[in-house]
Amino acid sequence: MARALFLGGLGRSGTTLVERLLGELPGVCALGEVVHLWQRDIRDDERCGCGARFSQCTFWRRVGALAFGGWHNVDVDRVHYLQAAVERTRHIPRLATAVEAPEEVHEYAEYYTRVYAAAAEVSGARLVVDSSKHSALAHVLRWSSDLDLRVLHVVRDARGVAYSWTKTVQRPEADGSDEMTRYSPGRSALLWNAHNAAFGLLARRGVAVHRIRYEEFLADPRAALTTIAEFAGVPLGDGDLDFLQPDHADLRIGHSAAGNPMRFTVGRLPLRRDDAWVRALPSRQRRLVGTVCGPMLRAYGYPLSAPEAK
Ligand SMILES: [Zn+2]
Repeated sequence: MARALFLGGLGRSGTTLVERLLGELPGVCALGEVVHLWQRDIRDDERCGCGARFSQCTFWRRVGALAFGGWHNVDVDRVHYLQAAVERTRHIPRLATAVEAPEEVHEYAEYYTRVYAAAAEVSGARLVVDSSKHSALAHVLRWSSDLDLRVLHVVRDARGVAYSWTKTVQRPEADGSDEMTRYSPGRSALLWNAHNAAFGLLARRGVAVHRIRYEEFLADPRAALTTIAEFAGVPLGDGDLDFLQPDHADLRIGHSAAGNPMRFTVGRLPLRRDDAWVRALPSRQRRLVGTVCGPMLRAYGYPLSAPEAK
């Protein structure tokens, strides 16, 4: 049975950085956002984190061969149909309360568990990391009988998340002028509430969920990674965190299939808090997000009064 650590949370919460550091741990294989593999990789042949086209990456070729007898055997239209049918935020209440899930939920989950199991075998890892983030997908994977699912719920201050969503980020893997989605602060505040609440619900359904605050993770990555590794069943030994320096990490090449451009970083990755929102998010928007997300910000231990700009 494959063991997968699913990184959950609203986008722009720091999951890519957490994933990159987890990928450096022995016995861990980080896969990127598997939710996008079907379209961006199998169909569009975008670049793997190693820099090669998906179809040319040896790691993913072997995973595809083992999981499906080759990626050409995956019916991407069927995956998209299932994705639209079951992996929807509005379906979470039903997925969370059902006694038995519809057959389509099992069928959709099966695509993921096959990828996880094959990736574990090809890499020799004891744990694969999927940073897909989507809460609805985590609720789908809960129904997989053939998976040891553990969820790392990454929370970042909603005001920092909101600011990040207003910025323009290019997607280099598409080799075009493609940009990542942008949301207004009001929209991202509502999404922040919904997705974070969904992971709380998942924990109440008996799934192993460990929550971290991204700001705390960055303040002491060594301690955070030690705790996460233990939670994920891959406890660390001496020297396993030698890639961590006080202000940066030294990264090797990874095979992240899709996600934030940081997945291409090799070598030095700076580890510092990004508090740009404190200065740059207009006060009206900051108050809006603070009001909409207030109850959960408080529950997670964030101060509602704005921190001082440094
Ligand atoms: Zn690769």
